[in-house]
Amino acid sequence: MKTYLGLGSNLGDKKVNIDTAIRKIAVVVGDVLRRSDYCVSAPWGFESEHDFVNVVICVETALQPFELLRQLQKIEKELGREQKSAGGVYTDRIIDIDILMYGDLVIDLPELKVPHPHMKERDFVMKPLNEILG
Ligand code: ADP
Ligand code: MG
Repeated sequence: MKTYLGLGSNLGDKKVNIDTAIRKIAVVVGDVLRRSDYCVSAPWGFESEHDFVNVVICVETALQPFELLRQLQKIEKELGREQKSAGGVYTDRIIDIDILMYGDLVIDLPELKVPHPHMKERDFVMKPLNEILG
């Protein structure tokens, strides 16, 4: 199945954080077929002096959606992400990996919503996504 993943970082060496995550994704999730350029943007939904770097990738995966989510969360932890966003409050993060789409599957559960409900209003997702879709 083709899945589109959105990666973001606004702490530390952001491009290195994203590249490291993508290398881990290639090992445990599957072949990375496409990758966008780095997209730099101001924080969305919270105040911070730290800009974000975002990348969208397309991965061919044999993992089922919840297993995919679990593996991505494991990679976030390995990279040193400690806190989760809670109650819709966003914070600075070393790495965030979101599942944007999983084939054309629709899931609407609290733990997993695909397509990602906010992606259409986020330029830092849509710009790199369109880049690799087009
Ligand atoms: P956010 O990405 O919104 O800043 P987190 O990365 O802390 O927040 O994720 C919060 C929760 O969102 C996770 O525990 C996860 O279960 C849930 N979630 C729902 N849909 C998705 C998705 N499409 N991709 C990643 N996480 C998701
Ligand atoms: Mg996330």
